[in-house]
Parts: sequence; structure tokens; C-alpha cells
Amino acid sequence: MAVTICQHLVGLSLTSFPPSATPDACEDCLREGTRWVALRLCRECGHVGCCDNSPGRHATAHFRLAGHPVIRSYEPGEDWYWCYLDQFAFELEGAPPAPSHP
Ligand SMILES: [Zn+2]
Ligand SMILES: [Zn+2]
Ligand SMILES: [Zn+2]
Repeated sequence: MAVTICQHLVGLSLTSFPPSATPDACEDCLREGTRWVALRLCRECGHVGCCDNSPGRHATAHFRLAGHPVIRSYEPGEDWYWCYLDQFAFELEGAPPAPSHP
């Protein structure tokens, strides 16, 4: 399988998390009082949102709102990426694992 990464990652720092990537929660869920299933991290600005199995689907909402196409899983042990524009999932060699959080 050819190694392909999506072009939307070009120019982004992939070896470190954005400084804002600290909350262990979907802030939009906290505000709306819903409960998330799994967290996704925006690779562009560090927004943490919940996955499409969560009632709020805030990661997708963030993509629609902010136009940041690339997210990665923010779950411990998961290091896959997803590009909304390409509808393309991939993993990156040498990418740091998600920081552990409860
Ligand atoms: Zn892409
Ligand atoms: Zn949410
Ligand atoms: Zn973003």
C-alpha cells in the first residue's frame, strides 16, 4: 500500500500537539450538557470535539464551522487521522500518541 498522506497536513506541525490541546473533554458538550463517546482533536487549532457516535458530533461541527479538515483521534492508544475533505483515514509514521487522559 502506498504511503499517502493528505495534502491538508502540509505545513502543520505533526510532532507536537497544538498548545491548546489540553482539555480532556469536549467543551461544546460541557456547554450543552451532552455526553460524548470519544474525542477527536483538530490538527490545525487544537480544538477538541466529540466523534460522530456522540450526540453532539462536535468534531464534525467544528470542521463545518472553522473549515479545518484534518482531525486525529484523541483517545489513548489511537493515532489515526481523518480528513473530512478527502474522506480519507490514515496513520502517520512517528506521530505522537494521544496524551493520556481519563
Ligand atoms: Zn485532506
Ligand atoms: Zn461534543
Ligand atoms: Zn480547528
